[in-house]
Amino acid sequence: MTATAIRIQESNLNPATAVLDHTLSAGEPYLLEIQQGQTLRIIDVAGNQAVDVIFYNRNDGAEHYSATQTLLRQGGIYLTTGSVLYSDDGNPMLTIVADTCGRHDTLGGACAAESNMVRYALQKKFMHSCRDNYLSVLQHADIGLGKRDLVPNVNFFMNVPVTADGELTFADGVSAPGKYVELRAEMDLWMLVSNCPQLNNPCNAYNPTPARFLLWE
Ligand SMILES: [Zn+2]
Repeated sequence: MTATAIRIQESNLNPATAVLDHTLSAGEPYLLEIQQGQTLRIIDVAGNQAVDVIFYNRNDGAEHYSATQTLLRQGGIYLTTGSVLYSDDGNPMLTIVADTCGRHDTLGGACAAESNMVRYALQKKFMHSCRDNYLSVLQHADIGLGKRDLVPNVNFFMNVPVTADGELTFADGVSAPGKYVELRAEMDLWMLVSNCPQLNNPCNAYNPTPARFLLWE
């Protein structure tokens, strides 16, 4: 598998005509319903934030985003303009139609109590994590999704380069304030988000910041 080229593409959609404009505070979770054909923009408001996202088919929650299908089909490990996000059933879920950041991670996963403990220190276990964000929002949403549905996610704006030795490194972001990625929904979706609260690695520059979501018909 090779690295995907960075493909910068700007959008001509006007935020004033969006049907949804939501700013998510640093470290917080979010669940959004998206209709097939709608276009979603995720904005890295202050730069260097990691936005951890899992997509589900809203008509069949058992069908979810699949990193394996997505990487195999595009023959590359990063997401950028033109990338199609596939489900575990092999169906296209979303297509990236614009991207001013140019690279999004598919391998780093979501931070969790367990990874905080193993990667950093025993006393970091109970710090706020993406996995706990996911679980708390699903628990309140009552949409038939739970712990078993937490699959490997996309990390928008996060930079996890693979070294020549095949190792993953959490590097400082390639993103910057105001950079965005825009996706067209190819099916009705749930988007489960954790605006990563991590304080122990440079995925969000040790300083979690807000993310903004816009949606167009
Ligand atoms: Zn995280």
